[in-house]
Amino acid sequence: MAEQTMKAIVQTLIDALGAESVRFGDAIEPRYLGDWSGRSPVPPLAVVLPRSTDEVATVLRLCNEARQSVVPQGGMTGLAGGAIPSSGDICLSLERLVGIEEVDRASATMTVLAGTTLQTVQDAAQEAGFEFALDLGARGSCQIGGNLATNAGGVRVLQSGTARDQVLGLEAVLADGSVLSSMNKMVKNNTGYDLRNLFIGSEGTLGVITRAVLRLKPRRAARNTALCALSDYDGAVALLRSLQATFGDEIGAFEIMWPEFYDFGVALTRSRQSPLGEAYPLYALIEQAGFSDDHGERFAAALNAQLEAGVVMDAVVAQSQAETQALWAIREATAELPVKIEPINFDVSLPIGEIGHFVNACRKDFTARWPTHYGLYFGHIGDSNLHVTLDARSIPGVTVEEVDHALYGMVRDYSGSISAEHGIGVLKRPFLGYSRSPAELACMQAIKHALDPHGILNPGKVLPAAGDQDARNEQGTQ
Ligand SMILES: Cc1cc2nc3c(=O)[nH]c(=O)nc-3n(C[C@H](O)[C@H](O)[C@H](O)COP(=O)(O)OP(=O)(O)OC[C@H]3O[C@@H](n4cnc5c(N)ncnc54)[C@H](O)[C@@H]3O)c2cc1C
Repeated sequence: MAEQTMKAIVQTLIDALGAESVRFGDAIEPRYLGDWSGRSPVPPLAVVLPRSTDEVATVLRLCNEARQSVVPQGGMTGLAGGAIPSSGDICLSLERLVGIEEVDRASATMTVLAGTTLQTVQDAAQEAGFEFALDLGARGSCQIGGNLATNAGGVRVLQSGTARDQVLGLEAVLADGSVLSSMNKMVKNNTGYDLRNLFIGSEGTLGVITRAVLRLKPRRAARNTALCALSDYDGAVALLRSLQATFGDEIGAFEIMWPEFYDFGVALTRSRQSPLGEAYPLYALIEQAGFSDDHGERFAAALNAQLEAGVVMDAVVAQSQAETQALWAIREATAELPVKIEPINFDVSLPIGEIGHFVNACRKDFTARWPTHYGLYFGHIGDSNLHVTLDARSIPGVTVEEVDHALYGMVRDYSGSISAEHGIGVLKRPFLGYSRSPAELACMQAIKHALDPHGILNPGKVLPAAGDQDARNEQGTQ
């Protein structure tokens, strides 16, 4: 795009929204340049900060007319590079579109603007006597719009599903500025295509989410948390199935940590001491939440039975909120990864019974390739989701692309998914064909073209930008 046209669109946006809502040049703060993916930050052409759905519609209409690319931005906590601009892009930040419009107790729904943070929604749900089921470590910064655009998972998928399952209605603005409002509050609504679900998980490539009707759940009486030591992965799966047989969907989190990650997490806690004293081959952080307040007695009794059966080697059950937070602090050490190491992060899914073998295969393969490598393994195993992190500093001279090819190649061999919950963004785009068939990729392209014929919305994310033949060849897209 010519320099002159680029400047013209910025002026057009200033004329439409006012100078206060458009930042460019040195006025662009660093937080709009990069997310948590580790991708190098890039200054965009401008950042626009609309205050209403109408203003979002105006921005998109004007940009579509000028064939100007637009990158929707939420809380910038994404891990796939989906919200990172290129130098010619306009960033559309949703940070001013905040607020809870309504809590409807009869429908058990909350209507919110897309820029509202997850934490704000969780707190408001609690205050109204309900619970919002989605939860993840970035809750203080990530926005509902970003959660939906990435179909975020988090630590309670086992109990309540992903972000997709927490939504009844949605409002999105299409590339041409038209507003598609499907603010449905009903649980059953079989009236043709489910348009809402097109936008969930589309990472800002099909429309900008501006409002949502969220489902609220009954508040659970108490959350009981335990840390268990296990001898092997098969034992972990046996424990999960046995607890589910007893407690059903009261088992809300089942997080497995392999020793390297556990030690990393413990070293970052206040005490720097493992709550279990000794070292073990595997650790499970488990949450059980029922509707009657039995002070965790049923949960403790079930874990005791597993201890006696030899499935669990040792366990601690948190006795207070402070102890619960201390146990979760080990698992949530992920927030410190970019500070403490130079992480190359992976978020993959595999058939649950295969994950232990997969971790062993990774260790073997990585050790053979890069004997000095430092790798961490952990994840929401109850949802068949494994996270792998390698410290780039431990494998000097090895490129991220080499590590990507090694790991995603193994995921393909295990018939897994290259993205469990973080999305595709730009980082995983070349590997989408490892988990999706040519027919599926062609269908995605057709939907993208139908909704955004000029390709202005988040170009190059998930699918190659129009005209980028190299990227198409790489992904296997026609
Ligand atoms: C410490 C930490 C822990 C995390 N834990 C988890 C976890 O357990 N599970 C999980 O799934 N993720 C996790 N994440 C990743 C991240 O928090 C989620 O992907 C989150 O949903 C992103 O929300 P965001 O508002 O920050 O979106 P951003 O990073 O700003 O954007 C992400 C994508 O969504 C698009 N987008 C954002 N807002 C909109 C909108 N309103 N309309 C259309 N498109 C939009 C962007 O263009 C981009 O493609 C974690 C991240 C961190 C830093």
